Formats: sequence, C-alpha cells, structure tokens
Amino acid sequence: MVQHVGIIGAGQMGNGIAHVFAVAGYDVLLSDVNTDALHKALAKIETNLHRQITRGFISDDDARAALTRIKTTDRLAAFSAVDLAIEAATENEKVKIAIFQDLCPILKADAILATNTSSISITRLASTTDRPEKFIGLHFMNPVPVMKLVELIRGIATSEETYQIAEKFIRKIGKTSANSEDFPAFIVNRLLLPMINEAIYTLYEGVGSVEAIDKAMRLGANHPMGPLQLADFIGLDTCLSIMQVLYEGLADSKYRPCPLLVKYVEAGWIGRKVGRGFYDYSGKEPTPTR
Ligand code: NAD
Repeated sequence: MVQHVGIIGAGQMGNGIAHVFAVAGYDVLLSDVNTDALHKALAKIETNLHRQITRGFISDDDARAALTRIKTTDRLAAFSAVDLAIEAATENEKVKIAIFQDLCPILKADAILATNTSSISITRLASTTDRPEKFIGLHFMNPVPVMKLVELIRGIATSEETYQIAEKFIRKIGKTSANSEDFPAFIVNRLLLPMINEAIYTLYEGVGSVEAIDKAMRLGANHPMGPLQLADFIGLDTCLSIMQVLYEGLADSKYRPCPLLVKYVEAGWIGRKVGRGFYDYSGKEPTPTR
C-alpha cells in the first residue's frame, strides 16, 4: 500500500505534486538539490492551500494538516522510507538517470519509482534503474492542484500490478488518468508543443506580434491562455527539451525547434519561473519582451 510518497525536484511540478498528495492524506517527502527551491516550494504550497481555503475547496484544519504532512530534505537518504518515489526534476535525461542511480540503492525493494517527464522514453529511463517492472510514467499537468488529468505511461517492462497501483492512487488524489503509449512526448505534449513551437515560428517570421498571437488564440480558438503565455508558464527550457525529444525521437523535420525558442533559452529568458520569457513579469502587468 502506498502511504509515504517521496518527490525529487521541488520546482513548479514538484510542489504541486506534493500539495495534492498531502491534501489526499499521504505523508510527503519533498527533496531538491537546491535548498532555496525547497523554501520557495513550501511558500508556494501555503499560498495555493490558502487560495483553496478562500474558494471553499478545503477547510482551514485540513489545509493545516496537509502542510504538516510535508517534510523537505536536500538529501536522498530519507527516501528509504517511501513506498512511491516520483522524480520531477529538470527535463534532462542525464539529470534524471543520475538521480535514479543515486536513488535506487536507497529505495525499499518493493517501492514504485515514477517519473513526471514530459517527453522522455519511459522504457529507456526504466532500463537505467534496478526495477523496470516497478517503473512508470506519471505525467501530471501544470498547475497540479487545478488540472484534473494525469497521463499514465507504461514502459515495455512495467508490470500490470504497478499500473493498477498507479491508477488507484491517481483516483485517490482526485485525478483522472488517460493511458498513453510510450512514444515521444506522449499524448498531451505531442499535440500541445508543436502548436506552441508553431506560435514561436509565427512570431519569428513576423506574422504577428506576441500580443496578437496570444490574443488570436485566446479569442479566436477559445484557448484560456495564448500559446506564448502558455510557453512562459510551462518554462521555455522544458518546451525546448520536449521539442528536441520529438525532433530526435520521431526523426521528422516538422518538429524542428524554432531558432527563436533556442535563443530565448540561451539568453536564460525561460519564462515565468525566472520573471522573463516572451513576457516580462517584473511589473504589475506582463509586457511583451519583443
Ligand atoms: P522546474 O525547473 O520548475 O523545477 C525543476 C527542479 O528540479 C528545480 O527545483 C531543480 O533544482 C531540481 N533539480 C534539478 N536537478 C536535480 C537533482 N539532481 N536532484 C533533485 N532536484 C533536482 O521544472 P518543472 O516545470 O517543475 O519540471 C519538472 C519535470 O516535470 C520535468 O521533467 C518536466 O518536463 C515535467 N513537467 C513539467 C510541466 C510544466 O508545465 N512545467 C508539466 C508536466 C511535467
């Protein structure tokens, strides 16, 4: 039975995953190599719980109890107690593989290991661990406390038991799963990221301004966010990594990352998490950066 959940990576996704598991009554261990990220994650979880209280989604007492269930650490040693470890670190295959190499000897033999990767092969990641049959892709959506879906991705070696356990705790945390086969970027990002990349091409080619592109898709296609706004929200580093996985994994030039996306990432303008991407977030209202 899964009761104790460990999360590696306390960025935008890690803090959201910790939030939903803690609210659902699980004990949560949240880790990051960057202690500042841990402080920010706890502050973010508090803010988001507070918002849920004011909207009447959760009581004061339940929110307080959820917070006390979350412990943080910058070491992996405490993962020896977890039943489920979810890797939610930077979207970089080498980083993830290095985490699994350090983590696996610490984990209990029967612990399930999951990754929140947006695009990387579950089968390939699983093969670098000591437990491919207990390895699964759990792709949460951003922001985790709000979005209903979790994509569930089996690697070639994932056992039916692991899949069933994963489905069960996804239901327990109030989410709905959609099954995706293990192909680059799965379902949601296979569709979403080429659209975002194309929006960046329309900016690059001068078809429209940042504001015109976002307004066009908000008002013309009824999208809640424009594609450039969404790219900033996801993180341009993550967007670029996903496009590279699609481009290399499917060997099709239609997935070529837009050179402008590459340039923004090279500049370190990777979106809301650093205060600057296609928009500058330092003022009261976001303003386009070109
Ligand atoms: P982020 O940049 O906000 O956070 C990543 C965190 O990982 C950082 O705090 C970093 O310090 C930490 N980290 C890096 N190396 C580490 C290591 N060796 N050990 C422990 N922590 C480490 O990124 P994010 O948006 O939270 O994305 C995390 C994962 O979730 C990625 O795989 C991404 O593809 C996936 N994801 C992202 C989104 C999104 O919209 N941003 C949606 C679904 C899935």
